[in-house]
Amino acid sequence: MTWDEVKSLSCQPQSLIGWGDVHKRSKGTCLYCGFGILSGGNSETKFDMWRQFTVEHIVPAKNGELNWKIKEAVNNFFPDEQSGTIKKVKNMNEITSCHVCNSFVSRCSSAQNINNAIRCFHGHLADRNKNLQTWLKQLRDDIWEVWKLKSARARGKLVYLRKKFIETIGDDLNVVLVESRNGLSPDELDGILKGILDGILPEQE
Ligand SMILES: [Zn+2]
Repeated sequence: MTWDEVKSLSCQPQSLIGWGDVHKRSKGTCLYCGFGILSGGNSETKFDMWRQFTVEHIVPAKNGELNWKIKEAVNNFFPDEQSGTIKKVKNMNEITSCHVCNSFVSRCSSAQNINNAIRCFHGHLADRNKNLQTWLKQLRDDIWEVWKLKSARARGKLVYLRKKFIETIGDDLNVVLVESRNGLSPDELDGILKGILDGILPEQE
């Protein structure tokens, strides 16, 4: 498949591409649950981890609205320091998260304590009575606070999920360990699905 063909698919992979710096800063690890590779791993393992990654905006980005607000604040307060400052604020707010944690935290911004912490960040973002370093440090502290609250929520959900996993499917789940990539071959996958379908609806019926 060519890149143009890939881009024309309705489910596009671009959201994964171009975020290398975020994942490098996050040390290839979901900063909510720790899923990832801290060191080592061959390129195939790294690829398998990387494709589970998302970029999480600790303070929600709301379709670019946050970037616009950051730009506006920097333009108004620190017009001589624009590009470096905008980048610093954005970089502090963007981290690696696995898909599961991202879905855990994506809808928790309305929880009261998290919502308050997010509002605090927005309040300080629009606060012009500060010098640049003080302003940046305040935003950093606000982002840290939101992350702590979201993190506690994601980990709490994982504890519950792990318990359910052990109670329900853990012992029965057959995990296929594949030493060499690219995973199971298409024929082997055909075989597994055929086994499922024939188990549900045997040929003789
Ligand atoms: Zn995670």
